[in-house]
Amino acid sequence: MMSLLVLLLSLPALAQEVVCTLPWLGDVTRVLAPEAEITVLVQGTEDPHHLSPTPALTAKVGSADLYVENGLGLEPWSAALLDGAGNPGILPGQPGFVRASQGVTRLEVPSGATPATGDLHPEGNPHIWLDPLNVPIVADNIAAGLARIDPENGEAYVERAKTFRHEVQVRTYGEELVGSLGGDVLDGLARGGKLYDFLESKGLSDRLGGWLGEGAALRGRSMVFHHRSWAYFIDRFGLRVVDYIEVRPGIAPSAAHLDGVKMTIQFSGAKVIGVTSCYDDQHARVLAEETGATLVRLPGDVGGIPEVSDYYALIDTLVARLGE
Ligand SMILES: [Zn+2]
Repeated sequence: MMSLLVLLLSLPALAQEVVCTLPWLGDVTRVLAPEAEITVLVQGTEDPHHLSPTPALTAKVGSADLYVENGLGLEPWSAALLDGAGNPGILPGQPGFVRASQGVTRLEVPSGATPATGDLHPEGNPHIWLDPLNVPIVADNIAAGLARIDPENGEAYVERAKTFRHEVQVRTYGEELVGSLGGDVLDGLARGGKLYDFLESKGLSDRLGGWLGEGAALRGRSMVFHHRSWAYFIDRFGLRVVDYIEVRPGIAPSAAHLDGVKMTIQFSGAKVIGVTSCYDDQHARVLAEETGATLVRLPGDVGGIPEVSDYYALIDTLVARLGE
């Protein structure tokens, strides 16, 4: 009996078990809680809107201490998965549940009294992670969830979220501007759509570094995308999207729609057709051949292509591939 007690006392604290719906959520969680056991449900090469969870994944949800979902309707399968997992502590409203998108300003919110449009984005565009300014908000939400289930280490999670915010700011604007103006001031200007005017008025335009500095070439450039994954990226980097191959999110194009897209490409002079790697690029290939535009395969999430191993590499790759 005595020896069992000694054994129990000498065991290290159990690692928290966290289930994240999407790879980028798993990556942010790993930054905040490197010691946690993290399971990610959707692979970066898979379409996040659809998932048929395996029994092994459902079992992971059943034993999880924390469940992190994007929300905004991106994971229509999430509610049924939670219902079936038999783990009351991680249901919405409980301490073990995190809706990562809470507090993020939504784009493309349907107008009018009827929210449901019959497509994959009935609550507005859910692809929030393609704007780097949104991801520290998500990190704060996840840190708060980790602190709820593991209060002893609560301060450490919150501190790591602050460090992450600073790191994202440095990668967004460059070390120099974050050092001189402060990342939060730059975030405020960027959110208000005043960053570029402000920098120009101060003679600092050429000091903009990081993703926005490198991505300056993207501003105003005309493109066509397959799926509406890009609202937040477009908003931050100033691209001009002239059309989408899908009629609406998740609704495949008719021949007439594709003819319209082809004409739009020709009239607008769009040079790039972007397709996330989880989608079939058959329509995009035909359009590229017919118009001379370049088909660019893009990772939609961490792991979407092999070299995108974390969130930073995801944005690095998008800025580089679209700027070529
Ligand atoms: Zn979508």
